[in-house]
Amino acid sequence: MDIAGAIAGVTAALGLVKELRDINAQLDQAELKLKIADLTTALSDAKLGLVDVAQSLRDKDTEIADLKKLVKYRAENLIDQQGFRYPNKDGKADGLPYCPACEAKGIFIRLAQDRNTPGHPFKCPSCRADYGYNGVVAR
Ligand SMILES: [Zn+2]
Repeated sequence: MDIAGAIAGVTAALGLVKELRDINAQLDQAELKLKIADLTTALSDAKLGLVDVAQSLRDKDTEIADLKKLVKYRAENLIDQQGFRYPNKDGKADGLPYCPACEAKGIFIRLAQDRNTPGHPFKCPSCRADYGYNGVVAR
């Protein structure tokens, strides 16, 4: 259940409370018990919805913390140059870049030359993306 579902559950419970207020308790005992049972169900549903919302918020907090770590890591350790991201060595891009495709998935794998292919193109050792024969080494 999402937050809208939880809010709808609370709204339903509040509607039942209003109906309870309108019941003449001495004359309508059966109706009163029925409305209390409905109220209990509505509140239980709303509680379950809020438990789901709380879990979702915890998951988002974890994801935000992970993304903050990644942004900090990138700012402190990487340099962007010519569409690639390189290790930062004394403020300058160094050596071969990280594979952009793998980095998008949060994995930092540097390109390497494929010695088994004629011309030795630069490829990602993980996803095998081919980045061609030149223009990837940091200047
Ligand atoms: Zn890759």
